[in-house]
Amino acid sequence: ANGCDNPEEIKLQKTLGRIKHKIVVMSGKGGVGKSTVATNIAVALSLAGKKVGLLDVDVHGPSVPRLLSLKGKQPHIGDEIMEPVPWSKNLSVMSLGFLLPDDRQAVIWRGPVKIGLIKQFVQDVMWGELDYLVVDCPPGTGDEPLSTLQTLGPTAMGVIVTTPQGVAVDDVRRSVSFVGEVGNRVLGIVENMSGFVCPDCGAVHDIFKSGGGEELAKEAGVRFLGRIPLDPEVATSGDEGFPFMKVHRDTITGKAMEKVIAPM
Ligand code: ADP
Repeated sequence: ANGCDNPEEIKLQKTLGRIKHKIVVMSGKGGVGKSTVATNIAVALSLAGKKVGLLDVDVHGPSVPRLLSLKGKQPHIGDEIMEPVPWSKNLSVMSLGFLLPDDRQAVIWRGPVKIGLIKQFVQDVMWGELDYLVVDCPPGTGDEPLSTLQTLGPTAMGVIVTTPQGVAVDDVRRSVSFVGEVGNRVLGIVENMSGFVCPDCGAVHDIFKSGGGEELAKEAGVRFLGRIPLDPEVATSGDEGFPFMKVHRDTITGKAMEKVIAPM
């Protein structure tokens, strides 16, 4: 069914019609900095004057509220609508973390519930007119990224985050083909934690062999968006809830992140 007279579907299409670009940030596995990259992409775009929505669909470990110092905030919930939580004039945020009473609580929902929830987060949240909706997905190629891409439709583009090590790169290969199989396109690959910014001398040193993401991008015929060094300030700003791009844009790492958003 094309859902022409399904009111839910009409509502979804109306919401999607007001969002210009949909970016789904994914990774083959956890701990590669996907949430950090997704959050900083959203912040950087908003600082560039774009209207941005950031949607955290990681139902098992939503980290966006912490990264943006929004923990404990509550979206305003009305009749079948939710207002996203504003981070700034240009950036509004929705995360399951806002709805969970306690962040230590294990979420053990089954696939269909998660799928319904993601759809609701897109359809029932009053995003308004957006230049970008950036979605932070849980790692892997499971229910959440699938349902996110299907809900957002074929114009949504995947951004895949990896680290330089070989294992991570293999996982990414899977993510790239997954996006294609769902019928969407990969906007590009980001190699995170690529080289180390020395806190003493400021130079970038390679720890693991860098360039895996770039090789893979070439091989898969997708764009390489750039590499972001391992920078202690990235972790610190995440822990403190001041996203890196808000405070350290004029650094080697900040410029690397700017480069990543340039093709968006
Ligand atoms: P994921 O979403 O892939 O699980 P996170 O974004 O939560 O990963 O990042 C995992 C950890 O690595 C966090 O503590 C984060 O601060 C840190 N981190 C991410 N990217 C960088 C980076 N470029 N430099 C230093 N630390 C980073």
